[in-house]
Amino acid sequence: MANMFCPQCRLEQPTEHAFCVRCSASLPGHLLDISPSKRMRFFAGLRVTDADPEGAFLRVSCYLKEQIFNSPEGSVKIPGNHVRFSVWVGSEARSVISIPESEARELAAFITEELRRLNQSVASVE
Ligand SMILES: [Zn+2]
Repeated sequence: MANMFCPQCRLEQPTEHAFCVRCSASLPGHLLDISPSKRMRFFAGLRVTDADPEGAFLRVSCYLKEQIFNSPEGSVKIPGNHVRFSVWVGSEARSVISIPESEARELAAFITEELRRLNQSVASVE
């Protein structure tokens, strides 16, 4: 089961909702692909400079198994064991990158560990 979070206020939403119950923003439910070998979550963007887009969010998709999608134009093979990051502004994907599962685990550990270290160094200065 996929989780859907409002890209504006981050409130978790039922996946069948089209609009946020808290802030009434349009929800990106059409981007959810509910599949047992794929998990996805949205993370709200933070505007740090004036050049940063309004309403941006990060979509993170974890793929477990290789999947093949068939369409009249041909078939697309999506490899398993990777994590795909896409930067969305509104309903448009602006950039994407996929990394192997091993790198994604390193990334998760890096963020967790570095935030812990930074919090400790701030706490020891105070
Ligand atoms: Zn909201």
